[in-house]
Amino acid sequence: MTEGVTNNGSGSPSVRTALITGANKGIGYEVARQLAANGFHVFVGARNRKAGRKAADEIATQAGTATFLEIDVSDSNSVTAAAHELGKSVDHLDVLVNNAGIIADGDKAILETTDELLRETLETNTLGALRVTRALAPLLAKSKAPRVVNVSSGGGQLTGGADGWSPAYCISKTALNAVTSQLATALPKFAVNSVCPGWVRTEMGGSNATRSVEEGADTIVWLASEAPQKLTGKFLRDRKEIPW
Ligand code: NAP
Repeated sequence: MTEGVTNNGSGSPSVRTALITGANKGIGYEVARQLAANGFHVFVGARNRKAGRKAADEIATQAGTATFLEIDVSDSNSVTAAAHELGKSVDHLDVLVNNAGIIADGDKAILETTDELLRETLETNTLGALRVTRALAPLLAKSKAPRVVNVSSGGGQLTGGADGWSPAYCISKTALNAVTSQLATALPKFAVNSVCPGWVRTEMGGSNATRSVEEGADTIVWLASEAPQKLTGKFLRDRKEIPW
C-alpha cells in the first residue's frame, strides 16, 4: 500500500527518489526526514500501517515529499507487494536504505542462541536486506546513479568486533556485510555500501547511547546523496572506510 501524502511528480527522472525500510522511528525516520529535506521524494517503509502513515505525514509536513509504503522485510509476499506498489508510483528508484533491523529477545550468549532465534534475526537483518534489494533492483537500475545503503553495525565487524554481546544480531550483521560485498560485485553500476551508525539513542540503542539520531544518520544520508558514485563495496563509519 502506498499513500501519497504530497506529490511533486516523481514519475520524472529529475526528482530523486528513496525508499527507507523501518522508517517509522529511530535512525530510519531521521534518514527519511533528512533526505526529504534535501529534495528527495521519500518512501517511508514500515510494517505497521498506523506508525508508517504517522511518520510520512510528519515528514511531509516538516520536510518535503513523503509517502508511506507498507513493507515487512521479513515477509517475501509483503516485499513483492511493496515493489509492485512502488513501481506504480515511480519510474525509477535512486536510493534504497536497508535500515530495518531487530535484536531478538533473549539474544545474549552464543551457546544459548537457539536455531529459532538466529533464524528470526537473520530473516530480518540479513535476508530482509537482500530480498528487498533483489525485488527493487530493476527499479534501481532505471536510476542514473543507483545507491544501496545497508545499515549494519560495528558488532558485525570481524576485525576487533564480535565481543560477545547479542551474538545472533552480530552474526546477522557480519552476514549483511557479506551481502553488501556480493551485491557490489554483482551490480557494478550501483554503489552498495554497509554503514555502522555508531551507538545511537533509539529504542534499540537505548537512552545511554553516545550518539543522537542526527549523528547516526549522517553517513547513511551522505552515502545516499553526496558520496562519490564510485565508492562501493565498503564498510563505513563517520564517512570513512572501516575494516570488515
Ligand atoms: P529502532 O528504533 O528499534 O528501529 C528499528 C526499525 O526497524 C523500526 O522502524 C522497526 O519497525 C523496523 N523493523 C524491524 N523489523 C522490521 C521488519 N521485519 N520489516 C520492516 N521494518 C522492521 O532501531 P534503530 O536504532 O533505529 O536501528 C536502525 C538500524 O540501525 C538497524 O538496522 C540497527 O541494527 C542499526 N544499528 C543501530 C544502532 C543503535 O545504536 N541504535 C547501532 C548499530 C546499528 P517497528 O516499529 O514496527 O518495530
